[in-house]
Amino acid sequence: MSKKSYEFDTRYSDVEQGLEERKNRIKTICFKTCSKCGEIKSIFKFSLDKRNLDDRIGVCKVCRGRESLEYYYQNRDKILIRNKEYQDKKDRSVYFKDYRREHEERLKKLAASWYRKNKKAIKKRNLQYYEEHKEACQAIRGLWREKNKEKIKKYNQEYKAKV
Ligand SMILES: [Zn+2]
Repeated sequence: MSKKSYEFDTRYSDVEQGLEERKNRIKTICFKTCSKCGEIKSIFKFSLDKRNLDDRIGVCKVCRGRESLEYYYQNRDKILIRNKEYQDKKDRSVYFKDYRREHEERLKKLAASWYRKNKKAIKKRNLQYYEEHKEACQAIRGLWREKNKEKIKKYNQEYKAKV
């Protein structure tokens, strides 16, 4: 009886040991300890990473998610500022382009209308300037003629040929 019981015990503990080994084997295959929270979790709770021996990363998905969330919150201001700066830059370049174009057009119109309004005065002033600086103007013109003698000659010849 006692012998039988002993035999039974041995057999039972063998089975138990086998079961324990099998459980451990399954554990090492299907479970992994997270290097961040230290919890033993199913292998499916770890993201795939072919660089690792067991094809999984060392940090569980929960910790990973928390890490990226923490990163986001810690750097939220930085990220937001960066995004805003980028948007502002884009807006500004468009704004300046439009502003320049509108401004150019406006300046052209302004200059044209100013000229129209002041045509007489401008002519008068030019004439006055010419009268006041007649000699200088004539001297400049003479100098220009002297400088461009050949050009003028050629121009006149071509003009005559045309006419
Ligand atoms: Zn974890």
